[in-house]
Amino acid sequence: MGLLVVKTLMVAYHVLVEPALAVGLRRTRLEALGAPRELPDVELAVGAGPGCSPECRVEAKAESAALSRYLRRPRRTHGGRLGRLASGLAESRKPTPMIVDLDRYPDVGAFEAVLRKRSNRTLAKARRAAEVGYRVDVFPRVRHTLDIHAIRTSKAVRSAGPMLDYLLLRPGHVGAPRAAPPPSAPRCPRHWTRWWGVFEDAPGHRQGAVTTDRRLVAYVKLRRIGDLVHYVDIMGHAAHLDRNVMTLLHLEIMRWLIARQDHAAGVRAVLYGAVEHGGWGLATWKKRAGFEPHRLARADDADARTVRSTRLSDVFAAHRRR
Ligand SMILES: [Zn+2]
Repeated sequence: MGLLVVKTLMVAYHVLVEPALAVGLRRTRLEALGAPRELPDVELAVGAGPGCSPECRVEAKAESAALSRYLRRPRRTHGGRLGRLASGLAESRKPTPMIVDLDRYPDVGAFEAVLRKRSNRTLAKARRAAEVGYRVDVFPRVRHTLDIHAIRTSKAVRSAGPMLDYLLLRPGHVGAPRAAPPPSAPRCPRHWTRWWGVFEDAPGHRQGAVTTDRRLVAYVKLRRIGDLVHYVDIMGHAAHLDRNVMTLLHLEIMRWLIARQDHAAGVRAVLYGAVEHGGWGLATWKKRAGFEPHRLARADDADARTVRSTRLSDVFAAHRRR
């Protein structure tokens, strides 16, 4: 029951609160971040197309609601004045996506140079986290469900706002950990979901019946949608946040993406929420991490349709915030 309440409130947030925030906060946030008046454009192919494997199950025109809410649409020219007005209003209420445009970074050095300009401490923070023993790795989610639960319930209020999980989520709401092989290559190199985590050594550490010998202390649910990689869900354990685990995790992912190997080949942009999300601290963190406000649009299909499943669980999943 608790989980249903959490997810219902998240859907309400996206429908009611987020559009209001987008209008109210955008200008002050953009000015404070030093964004140009005309935001840079990024156009992405997100549906199935060249580069997909024959096993790809994504449709060419489909796009998820989680992505749709960031995408700019061509201004409507039909439907009379009222139609154009409605279309303009819908666009103005969309959140402004925070993006790293990988086209600007031929190698990791170029990216790190930009980070150094924004803060002289970011790279040192990640180095220190690695020095004290934190390690970044891709992991099967089912192996660490209890660690994930511990992370999600470790803090009542986060930079993005109050954590309803902290109040409502109980261990009984999460699936039991299962022994699982390490993630293999995804079915389609352009459409996949991967969990990246920060681990600390913990000999004998158990997750239910599974002995992992290491504890997950932070994670990102990373989803590739064609040219885009989306930080769908990102969180660290309260006891480890001061030790810069989030910065370490983000930089390791960026190094992998910029190297453009394996199923990172062809990624154009990385998306982490919107400029209007959370407190000023979160917006500053994103800027120091290399994200910038952009205008995002589809390059592969202007007539894209949002996939709106009637299954309640899919609706909730589409509205998961991060
Ligand atoms: Zn595909």
